Amino acid sequence: MSVEHVKCLIIGSGPAGYTAAIYAARANMKPVLYQGTQPGGQLTTTNEVENFPGYVDGVTGPEMMIQLQKQAERFDTDVRDGWITKVDFTGPVHKAWVNGDKEIHANTVIISTGASAMYLGLESEQKYLKLGGGVSACAVCDGFFYRNQEVVIVGAGDSACEEAHYLSKLCKKVTMLVRRDEFRASKIMEARVRNTENIEILFNTETEEVLGDGQVVTGVRVVNNKTKETHEIPATGFFVAIGHKPNTDIFKDYLDLDATGYIKNIPGTAKTNVDGVFVSGDAADHVYRQAITAAGTGCMAALDAERYLAASEVFPRDKAGVNSTY
Ligand code: NDP
Repeated sequence: MSVEHVKCLIIGSGPAGYTAAIYAARANMKPVLYQGTQPGGQLTTTNEVENFPGYVDGVTGPEMMIQLQKQAERFDTDVRDGWITKVDFTGPVHKAWVNGDKEIHANTVIISTGASAMYLGLESEQKYLKLGGGVSACAVCDGFFYRNQEVVIVGAGDSACEEAHYLSKLCKKVTMLVRRDEFRASKIMEARVRNTENIEILFNTETEEVLGDGQVVTGVRVVNNKTKETHEIPATGFFVAIGHKPNTDIFKDYLDLDATGYIKNIPGTAKTNVDGVFVSGDAADHVYRQAITAAGTGCMAALDAERYLAASEVFPRDKAGVNSTY
C-alpha cells in the first residue's frame, strides 16, 4: 500500500474546502484536496445562487463550484477524485485513507466535509428536487424565487420555524406541516410562527405526495395522521426543514462532536481538540449554513493551519501528538 506525505490535506470540496485550498495554496502549503462523494457539495443541488457577494447577476451552484475549483487549481492545489474513508489522529502525524486503500500522512488536516440536508424521501419530492422545480431545503437560498407565491414547509424544529418566518416575509402564504400535535422548537421560535398572520400551521399532518406538472411543483397532498383525511394544498414551493446530518462519522473517535455530530471548534478559531486538525463549513455549523460563511471559515482554517505549520517547524509534535507550544 502506498503512503504519501503532504503538508496540508483538505477533505471536502464545497465553498469551505475550496476557499481553504486557495488560501493554503497561496501560503505555499501545497494542499491536496479530496473531493468526496459529492464534488462541489450541497451547492451542486442548488439552482441559482444570488446571495454570494461578487456575482452581480447570480450564478448557478454547479457553475460557482467549477469556478472555485479552477481558482484553487490556479494556485496549484492538487484536486483529486476520491473519498476519505478512515482517519487516525492519534499520532504525531495525521493519517487518512483514500477509498479504503491509499494512505496519506498529513501535517495538517482541514475538514470541510459539510452536512447533508435531510429529505422525506418521497419519490415525488426527489423528482422535483432533481429537476430544480420547486423543492428546497434552504429558505434563505431559494425563498426569493417564491415571492408573492404560496409555499409549504415541513418540520417543527427551530430551523423550520426560522425558515417559515423568513418565507412569511416574502411569500403570500406559508403552510407549515407539523407531524405531531406539538412543536419541537423552542417556545420563542414557536411563538414567532404562531403570531405570524400568513403562516398556517397544520398539526398531525404529513406529506403524502408533492404534486406537479412534470416540471414544477403545483401543490402538496397531505394526510392528517389522526383522521386519515387527505387534502391538497396549492403551492409552488415545497421546503423541507427536518434537520441536517453533518458528514463527520469518520472523525467521531478522535474529535469532540456535539450531540448531533457537528464538530466542535474552539470558539473564534477553526481549531479542533486535536492539534493540526481544523474544521470549516457546515461540518461545524448548524446555525448559519451559508456558502459565504462556509467560505469564511475555510479561510480561517487555512490561516490557522498555516500558523500551526510555522510553529510546528520550530516545535514538532511529540510522539503523543501533542504540541503544547501551539
Ligand atoms: P431538529 O432535529 O431540531 O428538528 C427536526 C424537525 O423535523 C422536528 O420537528 C421533527 O419532528 C421534524 N421531522 C423529522 N423528520 C420528519 C419527517 N420525516 N416528517 C415530518 N417531520 C419530520 O432539527 P433543526 O434543523 O430544526 O435544528 C437542529 C439544531 O439546530 C437544534 O438543536 C436547533 O435548536 C438548532 N437551531 C437553532 C436555531 C436558533 O437558535 N436560531 C436555528 C436553527 C436550528 P418531531 O418533532 O416530530 O421529531
